[in-house]
Amino acid sequence: MSFDAEKKATLDNIFHTQGYTDYKWVDPKQIVVAQWVRMKCMFGCGEYGRGGACPPNTPSVAECERFFNEYTQAVILHFEGRMDKPEDRHAWSAKINARLIKLEREIFLAGCERAFLLFMDSCCFCKECSGDRRTCNTPRMARPAPEAMAVDVYSTVRQFDFPIAVRTAYDQKMDRYAFLMVH
Ligand code: SF4
Repeated sequence: MSFDAEKKATLDNIFHTQGYTDYKWVDPKQIVVAQWVRMKCMFGCGEYGRGGACPPNTPSVAECERFFNEYTQAVILHFEGRMDKPEDRHAWSAKINARLIKLEREIFLAGCERAFLLFMDSCCFCKECSGDRRTCNTPRMARPAPEAMAVDVYSTVRQFDFPIAVRTAYDQKMDRYAFLMVH
């Protein structure tokens, strides 16, 4: 499929129809992939080895780089959230991710055979994650978050003037980002 202004307008129409307005088209070459992100997954994150769509169930950093290099069009979608309690985040993320997977499907059906979505947070669909791709409860729906694909989300989204900052308390506003690889 060639990618032109008309195609973009068609996809913009899908985004708006599904209620997405806070997003930007980006050049995938500006998606920053970094080894330090994987190190943060391996050491310091409680989900390492426990999330079916998290490392080590995701490709190596070199393979992630190759994956992003195969695209010429991508969209970054911004989500803001403020949790009263840390445990509320799971349900918040699961709800948004479930809507996002429908968006990926619609973009695919619009003729974008490569459409692939990276969730705005870890998968979160199940209360107890199987921790393994092979035993995932909904393998057709689970997708990795950008961080699980070694994306330096901070450096990437700042290039497009999206807000992002390290939070120092749970009740501060969160800025989360989903990446939709389109073409
Ligand atoms: S769908 Fe469930 S089992 Fe599969 S990765 Fe997501 S949380 Fe884990």
